[in-house]
Amino acid sequence: MYIMKTIAIIGGGVTGVTTAYALAKRGFAVTLLERHRYAAMETSYANGGQLSASNAEVWNHRSTISKALHWMLRRDAPLLVHLHPTWHKLSWFSEFIGAMPQYHDNTIALARMAVGARQHLFQWADEEGIQFDLKQQGILHLHRDREEFEHAVAVTRLLERAGVPRRAVTPEEMRTIEPALQGDYYGGHYTESDSSGDIHKFTTGLADAAQRHGAQLRYNQQVVQLNAGSAGVDVTIMQGDGATTSRYDAVVICAGAASRDLAAQVGDNVNVYPVKGYSVTLQLDDVASQQAAPQVSLVDDTVKLVCSRLGTDRLRVAGTAEFHGHNRDIRADRIAPLTDWVQQNFPDVSTRNITPWAGLRPMMPDLMPRVGPGKAPGVFYNTGHGHLGWTLSAATAETVASAIAASMDSAQTQIASPLQLA
Ligand SMILES: Cc1cc2nc3c(=O)[nH]c(=O)nc-3n(C[C@H](O)[C@H](O)[C@H](O)COP(=O)(O)OP(=O)(O)OC[C@H]3O[C@@H](n4cnc5c(N)ncnc54)[C@H](O)[C@@H]3O)c2cc1C
Repeated sequence: MYIMKTIAIIGGGVTGVTTAYALAKRGFAVTLLERHRYAAMETSYANGGQLSASNAEVWNHRSTISKALHWMLRRDAPLLVHLHPTWHKLSWFSEFIGAMPQYHDNTIALARMAVGARQHLFQWADEEGIQFDLKQQGILHLHRDREEFEHAVAVTRLLERAGVPRRAVTPEEMRTIEPALQGDYYGGHYTESDSSGDIHKFTTGLADAAQRHGAQLRYNQQVVQLNAGSAGVDVTIMQGDGATTSRYDAVVICAGAASRDLAAQVGDNVNVYPVKGYSVTLQLDDVASQQAAPQVSLVDDTVKLVCSRLGTDRLRVAGTAEFHGHNRDIRADRIAPLTDWVQQNFPDVSTRNITPWAGLRPMMPDLMPRVGPGKAPGVFYNTGHGHLGWTLSAATAETVASAIAASMDSAQTQIASPLQLA
């Protein structure tokens, strides 16, 4: 057991909370520091709700570039790059293009991670009694034209290499899988093993479980400075007008879109860009809307929207990618395509009562999360999960917790060796 080893986790989103849980269960003395009053109040608040190995395709493909150019001047485009140049944006895009040759390998690696994550996530939810509107009815990808469909056929081959079976389906089969679906589609792909649920309910439930396993969850704690040295990592927190510093044996940076700045303080380049997305949560108040809304989680590949049924009376629609720095404004012209999509595909679902939301995907240029040690001793990362943070979180939490345990074991061995020799 590692009870004497103190670990600070920065960030109480899904990556921080899963990391806290995985470390607390291994016996570490865990302190999670979160600047908000509760867990999961930023990107892990109202995302698309999918646990989707079938959506593991990385975006470093020439089709993403051509779509971005095509949509460049449309304010309601699914992918929108604000032209104002910043060093952060330019460096990110140049690394994004540099990672295009790894498209196949990275897609397979992400899909494998997603498959590995499932078993932990379901087991944890089961053991801890977490209710999160889980629906294990698969994910159906919708394709509007032949080109889109054929691209998906090629992606399916990559997914299969990662152990994710998905099958091509005709428009008729699509309506058997999801009878509520309207609209014209060329075809689809169905992944039975995928599922969906509410990330906020899952994360807050797991935060309570981590606490039961001994983790300290400290809210309203803004981490402002990190200093790493051979004696440990000093973490400075701003509280009111004063700052306090505490030393830990190790720190895990799980700060979502803020991870890049914290990493720079300890000498690492973790080039996370905040890629903004939006969601609307529709309240299905009447029985007619409840019956007309889909049960199966969907991905509309052309417009890059996802949709998940949350319990009886909520439907979440999410998507769009906007490159506009840390801007979190909720724009009416970016929300409108989400409600329009519901109207087109599920015309009998009421869009009267909706809650709009915007969040920042913490995205690395190659779309691969950064998991493991940094340059300085005692510094670790579990961040940069981009469009798949919830799907991957349980796997990456296990990976970083194992890496920390291994590093502590080797430190113990080094300290123990002289005694053993004597
Ligand atoms: C529109 C949209 C739809 C999506 N749909 C899906 C989906 O269907 N499936 C899926 O798997 N993923 C999806 N994602 C991605 C997923 O939601 C994210 O990858 C994931 O939530 C990121 O979790 P995180 O813990 O890294 O970041 P966050 O949830 O943002 O957590 C980071 C936390 O760190 C805290 N923090 C930051 N800096 C400090 C500091 N200095 N001191 C203290 N605390 C700090 C923040 O307050 C925050 O709570 C979607 C994202 C978006 C935007």
